[in-house]
Amino acid sequence: MRIRKNVRYLPKPSFSPKVPARVRLDRNENPFDLPPGLKKELMGELSKIPLNRYPPAYPKELEEKIAEFHGLEPENVMVANGSDELIGLILKVFDGDHILISSPTFGMYGFFATLEGIETVDVPLEEDFRLGDIEAFSENARVIFICSPNNPTGNVQPRKRIIEVLETGVPVVLDEAYAEFAGESNTDLVKDYDNLIVLRTFSKAFGLAGARIGYAVASEETMDYLRRVLPPFSVSSLSLRAAEFMLGHTDYVNHVIRYIIDERERLYREFKEYAYPSRANFLLMRLDAHDFLLERGIAVLKLSGRLEGHIRVTVGKKEENDALIENLKEFIEKEEKLGVGD
Ligand code: PMP
Repeated sequence: MRIRKNVRYLPKPSFSPKVPARVRLDRNENPFDLPPGLKKELMGELSKIPLNRYPPAYPKELEEKIAEFHGLEPENVMVANGSDELIGLILKVFDGDHILISSPTFGMYGFFATLEGIETVDVPLEEDFRLGDIEAFSENARVIFICSPNNPTGNVQPRKRIIEVLETGVPVVLDEAYAEFAGESNTDLVKDYDNLIVLRTFSKAFGLAGARIGYAVASEETMDYLRRVLPPFSVSSLSLRAAEFMLGHTDYVNHVIRYIIDERERLYREFKEYAYPSRANFLLMRLDAHDFLLERGIAVLKLSGRLEGHIRVTVGKKEENDALIENLKEFIEKEEKLGVGD
């Protein structure tokens, strides 16, 4: 068999063994499943969906509801199987020999570029995590990826700076997976910039990571091309209904967002000395506490490279965050006794 070179060089997926952690703060998920009443209502709706039938080839109804939610037209919205899938599809639309990323950032941009057989050029974020001079490398770039709020640093890029990058005319994918926790968004810029594609998801604030629903927002012209590469029937009828259901319960969603933001700020205040300010549902901390926490049943993400010695901690439920605080304080005390970092 002749395996394509770019596939041969991709790392094998490491499906991490099920972490025996009682507290999972490593995946930036929403800590809340639907409350029982709402879950029952949703399950009632799902039970009416005929499973022998395909979903709509293209999910117009959900796209209309999302468009209304953003004050845009249905032509500006395209739903897919998680925003991850959209990253891969977008790279199939445009020409150019490399993508631009700003590390440390979300790993899937580089993954899909490798899959497409194109290079990933990294213009690292500045010391304070602001964008560097990516414009300098924009010639013949296929796509510039900007993640805001950025995973794993948690900061947003100022709108003014995003506009400067858009002015290059290169397609810009603005990944706003965590925008609901930042209280600001740039989806409206698609009205002025044809080269902007904003990615959003139901996996975070809307709590539907298991349903795999993401969407792109772009101008009608750009979307016209993007729709050509989306395979029909790609999103399950069950997931489509779940997303529509959540859009009908935005009061509940907003309540959860408020809760998570309050808890995020509580965690930040507790660890101000070690944590970076965050506009997402997680915090980056300069604490090498991954193994220590895991031994105590708390899973967080261990970072590497430039962020060696850092962890990314997803904001959980109050009691989960209490457990994190208690254990991290213990970790810090132990490190201080050992004189680590002196
Ligand atoms: N973008 C960023 C920045 C993310 O952190 C994630 C999830 N970890 C995604 C996109 C993927 O979202 P989805 O579940 O919609 O594929």
